[in-house]
Amino acid sequence: MTANTPLSPQAEADLQAAWREVARWHAEVGVDAAMLDAPRNRYEETPQPPWRPSAPPAHAPQTPASASAAAPPPPREERQPKRRDNTPEALFPASPLAEAASSLEELRAALEAFDGCDLKRTARSLVFADGNPAASVMLIGEAPGAEEDKQGLPFVGRSGQLLDRMLAAIGLDRSTVYITNILPWRPHGNRAPSTEEIALLLPFVERHILLAAPEVILLVGGIAAKSLLGVPTGIMRLRGTWVTLRLGEREFPALPTFHPAYLLRRPQDKALAWRDFLSLQHRLAELSAAKE
Ligand code: URA
Repeated sequence: MTANTPLSPQAEADLQAAWREVARWHAEVGVDAAMLDAPRNRYEETPQPPWRPSAPPAHAPQTPASASAAAPPPPREERQPKRRDNTPEALFPASPLAEAASSLEELRAALEAFDGCDLKRTARSLVFADGNPAASVMLIGEAPGAEEDKQGLPFVGRSGQLLDRMLAAIGLDRSTVYITNILPWRPHGNRAPSTEEIALLLPFVERHILLAAPEVILLVGGIAAKSLLGVPTGIMRLRGTWVTLRLGEREFPALPTFHPAYLLRRPQDKALAWRDFLSLQHRLAELSAAKE
């Protein structure tokens, strides 16, 4: 029997039953996706050149053909297979797609159509945004967690509940803020997003900001702050100070603050976060007074 020989109906049914049993067992032990512990950037793996015999064995007779094989090797660049740019950015450029979106609906559709990010394959939902797109303040977090992935909305799990309470304390809620994340798909197992994933998807979140055009931005957590500001500085040093986020010609006042997931782990830092929220409230009051 070869690999192409069709199976008998009985053998086919037995095989399917065996696969169902394997899948059932995987589900039972909690395996719900096939992947490695750490993200593997397959685009960066250079394909191996096809195998060729190198020099003829020392005892081989010197025929004219093997004599010509002993001629000086061609210059290095001729021997190297031309390396294609296999990075996700090159294969699935996000910028033209993001830039072509002229509304939030088009941007969501562009993300839905984007196939350059593996996270999309393991996530249940695209988590695009929540709240009021016309709000003066836009919050940008890191990435969806399990609950966000289930509901398709940002910040609806435990840290989202804390965020809602912090917003309520300064008189805001989801009808007066607009919320999104740096990544729209959940990194499986709640691992931190990789720098490649962030770089790949950044054009979408930048376009998201330009289209929503908020008056101020709250950068929720170190990943959001560092990625959008393009700085390596940690959130401990960034938080609490207003900075300018420049996107093309546009400038947005932005305030980095702690991520609520961090505050759940370190409640003693809530006092610092409270100061940031008061600063946001003050800024919004100034903006609305200036409009009167
Ligand atoms: N953490 C985030 O940064 N964003 C979410 O949407 C949920 C948890």
